[in-house]
Amino acid sequence: MKKNYRGGRIGEEIKRIISELLLRELKDPRFSSGMVSVTGVKAADDGTIATVYFTMLGSGVGGDVSAQEKEAILGAFASAKGLIRKEIGSRLGLRHTPDLRFQFDTSEDYGRHIESIIGTLKRTSSAEADASGDFPESDVLEDLVEVLRDAGIIYLFPHENMDGDTLGSSVALCLALRKLGKDCAVVIDEKIPNNIMFIENGCTAQMTELLTETPADISILVDVAEPERLSGRSAFFLQSAKTMCVDHHVSSKPIFDYNYIDTEASATSEIMYKLILALGVEIDASIAEAVYVGIVTDTGRFQYDNTSGKTHRIAADLLEKGVSPARVSDEIYHSRRIEKLYLEKVVLSTLRSVSGGKGVIAFLTQKMLVDTGALEEETEGIAEKLRSIRGVEVSAFVRETEDGRTKGSMRSRSFYDVAELAGIFGGGGHIRAAGFTTSKPLSEVIAELADVLEKTL
Ligand code: 5GP
Ligand code: MN
Repeated sequence: MKKNYRGGRIGEEIKRIISELLLRELKDPRFSSGMVSVTGVKAADDGTIATVYFTMLGSGVGGDVSAQEKEAILGAFASAKGLIRKEIGSRLGLRHTPDLRFQFDTSEDYGRHIESIIGTLKRTSSAEADASGDFPESDVLEDLVEVLRDAGIIYLFPHENMDGDTLGSSVALCLALRKLGKDCAVVIDEKIPNNIMFIENGCTAQMTELLTETPADISILVDVAEPERLSGRSAFFLQSAKTMCVDHHVSSKPIFDYNYIDTEASATSEIMYKLILALGVEIDASIAEAVYVGIVTDTGRFQYDNTSGKTHRIAADLLEKGVSPARVSDEIYHSRRIEKLYLEKVVLSTLRSVSGGKGVIAFLTQKMLVDTGALEEETEGIAEKLRSIRGVEVSAFVRETEDGRTKGSMRSRSFYDVAELAGIFGGGGHIRAAGFTTSKPLSEVIAELADVLEKTL
């Protein structure tokens, strides 16, 4: 990728350093949402003072930034100022590091861009908008094709807690766009789970490596429609000139510049297959394998009722293009570490039944996870396993995350809407598979889930 910075401009350098520190070093919980981003740094000519402009997506309804939130971030910057100046001084080899002033960026351009996103997010959470259907229509594939053809640099964003579909669909589109000569990368900030690593194909880049690159012409959310589910990458995503979303979740709203949300699609990868054909790119064996992984994982190996004749017809074509189903299944499902089974053993020991056996809840604390030697990614599949019990309509698997929050994974069998249940905790997903992450403690979430299930199931 092309560098847009050739040295010499101290403001640019300071901006890059603070952006990096925000992502990696500054552990103040006031920065923790990943929503603070530095928009520019103006250094005085004599080098004594530099003003750091920042913006953020607030936690208020629709992302509003309250006066208190601005205050909190200013306070956090004030506490971190010493460390930031030290880093700037040592990294740039300055004898006199400029004093830093921090200021909320109200500049027109940036403000307008953020406001338009906040405006649409506001509509997302507004009940009237929902009722009146006050959302822009989803685009058609041809609109997406047109805008992608015009773009030079394109970044793709899979959702946090990467799964086979979000990575498979991102990699497939990335490979296709590269074939069209586009400068394209899948932007991540976490480790790829071991069992889906084989489809990576050199497509992913850590966000921190891209901070100094020319910004993307368009950034695309893949298998997700909420910037909040990008963990620390949300501000970076929102900085893009244009935003797009390609997704299949029922809880997703078309609030970006371009939107393609097909809730009938079994997987976002199924949409990618169509999009890649519409782009006129030939599907080679690597693209086919990535698409196939997305479909296999999101349909539970063609077993869930999101599996249609169309899903099988696409899968058939992918096999003819070189996919080996045995290799895929071996990589994803039959290459487990023994620690994953130890983990399942301790989780199963917490199993409890609610609503006369129609619901089951199991949990995992960080201590249990550490004791088994298993990885967070090895919790994948537990919620499905719990649902396999005869008579169970809803299964819920809740666990403490590394950063002290609580993540829920829910599955249902035939009638219960778990996307709505996840909504109570600020999450969403599909009717039969949904999730959430909340700052409520594990015990509280379990009690609340048990209570809701007793009453509604
Ligand atoms: P899992 O339980 O495997 O993490 O996710 C099940 C489904 O729910 C997936 O389609 C996933 O994308 C979605 N999902 C998981 N967590 C969240 C969340 O916090 N918010 C939303 N909107 N969807 C989620
Ligand atoms: Mn999906």
